[in-house]
Amino acid sequence: TVSRLRPFSATIFAEMSRLAVEHSAVNLGQGFPDTDGPESMLRAAREAIADGDNQYPPGLGIPELRVAVAAQQRRRYGLDYDPDTEVLITVGATEAIASGVLGLVEPGEEVVLIEPYYDSYAATVAMAGGVRRSVPLIPHGDGFRLDHEALAAAVTDRTAMIVVNSPHNPTGTVLTDDDLSAIARECVDHDVIAVCDEVYEYLTFDSVRHRSLATWPGMRERTLRISSAGKTFNVTGWKVGWISGPPALVAAARAAKQFLTYVGSGPFQPAIALALDTEESWVSTSAKDLEHKRDLLSDALRDVGFDVHTSQGTYFVCADPRPLGYHDGAQLCWELPAKVGVAAVPVSAFVDPDVPRGDDDPWKHMVRFAFSKRDEVIEEAATRLRRLG
Ligand code: PMP
Ligand code: GLN
Repeated sequence: TVSRLRPFSATIFAEMSRLAVEHSAVNLGQGFPDTDGPESMLRAAREAIADGDNQYPPGLGIPELRVAVAAQQRRRYGLDYDPDTEVLITVGATEAIASGVLGLVEPGEEVVLIEPYYDSYAATVAMAGGVRRSVPLIPHGDGFRLDHEALAAAVTDRTAMIVVNSPHNPTGTVLTDDDLSAIARECVDHDVIAVCDEVYEYLTFDSVRHRSLATWPGMRERTLRISSAGKTFNVTGWKVGWISGPPALVAAARAAKQFLTYVGSGPFQPAIALALDTEESWVSTSAKDLEHKRDLLSDALRDVGFDVHTSQGTYFVCADPRPLGYHDGAQLCWELPAKVGVAAVPVSAFVDPDVPRGDDDPWKHMVRFAFSKRDEVIEEAATRLRRLG
């Protein structure tokens, strides 16, 4: 492995899913749902395959999906994107993020990441030869908040890009209007591009609303908005994602994307177009159901003795195992599948390994659990976790 990728060998999700299989553990590690998305969408994909829709789709993605993506953003955020020049279909959000970074960051330029962050961000910045700078979320009450002073210090004229993920994996934080305003101000003042990873855009709870940074004054022209069908429609394996933004930024991402995969997910694209156009009420019901699962798992973890942070969105809840006598989240996650038959993911896997950390580092002990599972699966995990107490 080349030196710039050596720190990023096996992903924590693959490692913990392997352990889960090895110990027949309930897998609350990797975030994926265990039920299917809307029937009309599944049928459309089967029909596309049966009808011979099995060759390369167009480079930008099929027109009907680009039109559906543009329409969804107009309806939901009042954002107008031209489906022919401002929307690009990708192989999941993962490729969208990689394409944005590889197409827009010069070697040596700085990229600001909000920590903890999804693991692909740092690896992708490394592939581009970029230099990462971290801005932390800080535990605050029973949730987390953005450190605005650290943000102002991190964004400078050396900064090419900031990657913003809200609703946030792994903490379940939804950034506030105040946070988004602060990020927008830094981007405009320092002429920085924002890559907004909004894959959990529909999955928020307790009437918390997700708003898109691209709607802030001065931001549409400097933002690549990224989302994906995986989380919205319970099809993480289909890997259909998209980027929207001004033509020059989308063209830059496309320059990278066309040599990563060229295109992907042919027969799934018409099915996702249909789902975006017709299944919004399925998505609302699914988000409501997820809120109930959030409660089910959070209550169970509290019952076992964890300190549980409130998750405002996503598939995930973070818990502090110190009341149970565990001070190292990574160690706990490596032991948990064999010990009680449950897999989870340590939040320390989402932080910058090059930043020195003291014993009071909040991420060292924290553990992320996924609740995007059937109720009986969550209940079984809860029963098993009680053996910890
Ligand atoms: N960003 C975040 C924050 C995620 O949690 C995930 C996957 N769970 C992705 C990106 C990747 O999305 P996709 O599977 O569409 O590549
Ligand atoms: N995004 C999912 C998670 O955070 C998993 C994706 C992956 O396995 N790379 O758990």
